[in-house]
Amino acid sequence: MPALWDLPDFDAHESVHLFDDAKTGMRAVIAIHSTHNGPAAGGTRFWHYADQQAAITDALRLSRGMSYKNAMAGLPAGGGKAVILADNARTKTQDRLDAFARAVDSLGGRYITAQDVGMSEDDMVSLARVTPHVAGLPGQGGDPGPYTARGVYLGVKAAAKQALGTTDLEGVHVAIQGVGSVGGGTARHLAAQGAKLTLSDVDSARAAALATELGAQTVEASEIMRVEADIFSPCALGAILTETSVAALRVKAVAGGANNQLATGTEGRMLADRGILYAPDYVINAGGIINVLRHIDGAGDAEINTRIDAIPGRLESIWTESARTGQTSAEVADQMAKGLIGR
Ligand code: NAD
Repeated sequence: MPALWDLPDFDAHESVHLFDDAKTGMRAVIAIHSTHNGPAAGGTRFWHYADQQAAITDALRLSRGMSYKNAMAGLPAGGGKAVILADNARTKTQDRLDAFARAVDSLGGRYITAQDVGMSEDDMVSLARVTPHVAGLPGQGGDPGPYTARGVYLGVKAAAKQALGTTDLEGVHVAIQGVGSVGGGTARHLAAQGAKLTLSDVDSARAAALATELGAQTVEASEIMRVEADIFSPCALGAILTETSVAALRVKAVAGGANNQLATGTEGRMLADRGILYAPDYVINAGGIINVLRHIDGAGDAEINTRIDAIPGRLESIWTESARTGQTSAEVADQMAKGLIGR
């Protein structure tokens, strides 16, 4: 295994902490990419990795992502991420959770954790009994989905203005992939503005029920990226923009809430070459983290709404800079984020 510093994803992390609790067997990585704007904030993932290196790489990659996301959301927070190395059966024991909470606590607030894949709300409550450095607990803002959905809706509206030249969503056709918490909420906001919707979900009954409620159409999950529409809004899985799927798109813009939409990163250029406007995922889907991190500076509901309302303006400045420089919107977003964290 190469030295930590030599890993391609190291990217000048401020610090990377490896924990090994001899008594309980708890092993975890906490990666702190940046505290330039405030304490490094990002979720804890409980996952079974092929090996230690995979766990470290995941923590580094996700931690840098949180730096960029939190900076672009204008939050007084840096970026970090924790992964707890689970065994094959993903056995979670209280003594290991407690050991992890002590690990978070030992960093004295330089890292603030939140919920991520494999961690339940109950797990987070249990961490909070040991350390105060836990965000997004029940009663502190609740489910991030509706906040993310509002930001995505505002981002879709901005995309319609930029790509179609309209500020009125009446009749604008949006194809939505995945109608769970984020996609479903986005659909409701759009329907209220008169947008024409085509919905899809691998859970076809879920898509059908929402379509009936909103007077929308549905298509099979496998068809949604080939629907001729104004805007495609991915709100299900990551890595859905591939060479093949981008070539098949029949829309003028992609604006949705899914994380890590570009499969390899190069698809941003392919979208630009096809004249398809792209809303960088971590900018448009920041509503949830904006709400989760409300306690960092004690932001109330009005301030949370103001921060979410800033998402379309941020997208517009990215698109303007992209048009000026010829860089893709994804490249511009990364560059802006780096500037905001002093890199
Ligand atoms: P969710 O589980 O509530 O909904 C996801 C929906 O997508 C489900 O209905 C599922 O059946 C459907 N789905 C899965 N695979 C699909 C496919 N191939 N085609 C069509 N539909 C499919 O999840 P969510 O919270 O709405 O999150 C959706 C996406 O948004 C994820 O990528 C998530 O990482 C991202 N995201 C969510 C939040 C949040 O606040 N919840 C914040 C930022 C980013």
